[in-house]
Amino acid sequence: MADAIWKEYELFCPVCNATFKQLVVLHKLPENFDMTPYLDSMVKSHDHKAFQEARRKEAEAGGAGNDAQG
Ligand SMILES: [Zn+2]
Repeated sequence: MADAIWKEYELFCPVCNATFKQLVVLHKLPENFDMTPYLDSMVKSHDHKAFQEARRKEAEAGGAGNDAQG
């Protein structure tokens, strides 16, 4: 088995208004691969609803100073 090369990117999602971490498998990509549109599409296709829900649960569980929610 070939070594997997992973890189963790921190991406910003304007829909969730938050950053999230995305692991990308680099060894599957061609050398001159343009990451920008690729990462952009990852932001667009990530699960906004699940991500926001997870963040909200996190805030509820640990949450201090988080009282201004509409
Ligand atoms: Zn999102």
